[in-house]
Amino acid sequence: MHDTLPEDQRYFRHILKKGESLLEYYGFERIDTPLLESMDLFLRSVGETSDIAEKEIYTLKTKGGDVLALRPEGTAGVVRAYIENGMNVRPHPVKLFYWGPMFRHDQPQHGRYRQFYQLGVETIGDSSEAVDAELIFLGYKLLDMLGLDGYSVHINSLGDSSCRPAYLKALKEYYKNRTKKLCSNCKNRLKTNILRLLDCKEAECIEAAKETPQIVDFLDDDCRAHFKHVLEFLDEVKVPYILNPRLVRGLDYYTRTVFEFMPDEDPSTGSGQGGAQSSVIAGGRYDRLVEILGGSKTPAAGWALGVDRIVLALKEKNANIHDGVSRPKIFLVQLGEAAKRKSINLYESFRKAGIDAKSSIGRDSIKSQLRIANRLGVRFALIFGQKEALEGTIILREMETGIQETIPLEKIVEEVKKRLRSS
Ligand code: ATP
Ligand code: MG
Repeated sequence: MHDTLPEDQRYFRHILKKGESLLEYYGFERIDTPLLESMDLFLRSVGETSDIAEKEIYTLKTKGGDVLALRPEGTAGVVRAYIENGMNVRPHPVKLFYWGPMFRHDQPQHGRYRQFYQLGVETIGDSSEAVDAELIFLGYKLLDMLGLDGYSVHINSLGDSSCRPAYLKALKEYYKNRTKKLCSNCKNRLKTNILRLLDCKEAECIEAAKETPQIVDFLDDDCRAHFKHVLEFLDEVKVPYILNPRLVRGLDYYTRTVFEFMPDEDPSTGSGQGGAQSSVIAGGRYDRLVEILGGSKTPAAGWALGVDRIVLALKEKNANIHDGVSRPKIFLVQLGEAAKRKSINLYESFRKAGIDAKSSIGRDSIKSQLRIANRLGVRFALIFGQKEALEGTIILREMETGIQETIPLEKIVEEVKKRLRSS
C-alpha cells in the first residue's frame, strides 16, 4: 500500500473529473458503498475458488465474531446496495458508477498494488447487446479523453450456464495429458475452477494453453447471437477490438461478454509494455449475480478501470494535466504581530470576493515572502506591515514592474478586483 503525495493528487483528480463528466452525460449516477463488507458477500459473488477469494482478500474478525473483508472489487458491493435499497423499483436499466480504493493481497510491483483505486460502471437490468457495446464504447472514449491512445479491446464470450458446461468438459479432456506441464496453482484449479487455467500468468501455463478448444465453438444459438450483435455494435461505433478466444476473467460471476483493454503490442519488442500488469479496464456481463446475491433475476454488465495504472500511463506520456486549480493572483505579505492578526480577515475577504490569494503566515522576512510570491507567479503582492496595520492602509506592489502604491485597507479588495479585470 502506498501514499499519494500532494504532487500526484492532480492525476487522480483529472481522471475522476473526465470520468464523471463522460459518465454523467451518459446517464450514470455515482454510488458509494462501504470499504468493509461481510466476507460472505465476496465468497458468494467472486467465487470461493477465484484468486481473489483464495488468496488476495484481506479479512478481519470483529469482537463479535463476524468475518469482514476489505473490498477487493466494487461490483459485489454495488449489487448488494441495489438489492438492499430496493433499487429494483427504479426505472431500468439502473446506471451507476463508483470511485474508490480496493484492496488485494497481490504481489506488489509496478502497476500492481495492495491498495489501488478503481473507477467502475454498472448497468443493471438490461440484457441487450447495446448495453455491452455502450459500456465498451465508454471505456474507449474515456481513454481517448484522457489522451491515451494505443489501447485495444480484447473481447470474448464465456457463454452461460446452458452452453458453458460442455466447454468445461472439453477443457478437462484437453488438459488430461498436460497436467504435469502446469504450475502448482493450476494443478489445483484443474479440479476447482478449470476456466481460470486460461488466465494464469505463469509461462508454462500460457504455453500449455496454446491449443485449448475455443469457447466460441461451444456457444449456443442465443449466446452466439448476443456476441455477434455486440461486435456489430462495436463496428458501428468504430471501436477497434481483438477477438481473444482465451480471454477469461478473474471473477466467477461473468456470463457471455467479457473484455479487457490492453496496450497494443510494441512492434519493436513484440510485447505489450506492461506485461502481466497491462490491463487498464476490465469487465463484462454478469447476468446471474443479482440473483446469486438474493435479488430477483436481473441481467447486468459493467467494467472497472485501474486508476493507478492510468496514472502511470499519463506520467510515462508526460501528459499535460489541467486539474482545474487556478493559479493565485495575489500574495499577501505580512510583517509583525498587528498585521498578522488583521490579515486573516483580509485573506478571507479575498476568498469571498472570488480572488485567488496565497499567503505564508509563519514567515517574518519581507524578502522570503516576496520570493514565494515571485515563484507563484502572482500579479500583485500586498504588503501589510506594522505601520500599515496602524494606519489602516496596505501597499499594493505590481510584481512585474516593482511599482508600489499605498491604498486604504477598506478599498483594497475592490481595487484588486478592478485591476485584475482590466488586464
Ligand atoms: P490482473 O489480471 O492485472 O490481476 P484483474 O483481472 O485482477 O487484473 P480486475 O479485477 O478485473 O483485474 O480489475 C479491473 C482493473 O483494475 C484491472 O484491469 C487493473 O487495471 C486494475 N487492477 C486490478 N488489480 C490491481 C492491483 N493490484 N493494482 C492496481 N491495479 C489493479
Ligand atoms: Mg488480479
